[in-house]
Amino acid sequence: MRYALLDWDNTIHRGYTIYGLTDHLAEKGIVADDIHPILERIKEAYRLQEISYADYTLRTCEAFAEALAGCSLEAYRAAVASFALEDERHLFDEAAALFALLRRYRIEVYLVSGAPAEVLRVYAERLGFSGLFGFELEEQDGMLTGRVACNYGVDKARVLRMPAFQAPSSVHALSMGDAVADIPLLDHSEVSIVVGDGKLALREDARPLRFGDGGWDIRELEELLGGALSR
Ligand SMILES: [Mg+2]
Repeated sequence: MRYALLDWDNTIHRGYTIYGLTDHLAEKGIVADDIHPILERIKEAYRLQEISYADYTLRTCEAFAEALAGCSLEAYRAAVASFALEDERHLFDEAAALFALLRRYRIEVYLVSGAPAEVLRVYAERLGFSGLFGFELEEQDGMLTGRVACNYGVDKARVLRMPAFQAPSSVHALSMGDAVADIPLLDHSEVSIVVGDGKLALREDARPLRFGDGGWDIRELEELLGGALSR
């Protein structure tokens, strides 16, 4: 199997999915409006460097989960479905060309992200991904408990240790990310892409491709992938 491990927010999707989804859930009356100042305070603490990126992610997801305590899974899923329709305009323009290229090279796509998994599942189905590792809400008897079940956004190296990706016949063809949490993925693949202009401390011999606001060079990516996969 050839596989790609892709971050989602600010890599494939402009901005953080959780904020748009929170707005949508508040508009629908599924979460109370006081979620907004709670999330703002966490964002501000990160901006002021009072908390780490990992804590920022964890606390944001915990507050989001807590706001949904007692909501039925069915109501949450229905709101996510309507959200995903309007959210698609936030995907980077070249994402479709990227996925077409990966299909052509028979590279299976897995998302590894701290974005709400229910949203990622809608995209995975729509875009034909092979799987996803996201931020999952805990559920019991059809109700959300208010707790986080798991969150791959803060431990992406965990995915690399899974048997399917460890198999000798598995080739980690591509990784793509924008933040420190993505470094384990970016350091592990044949080809890696850093989205945006963030400074990431990758391994010394890393030569990542940069995809910036000026557009994504899909042709250059194809050359690199072609070379890496023929070795
Ligand atoms: Mg990201």
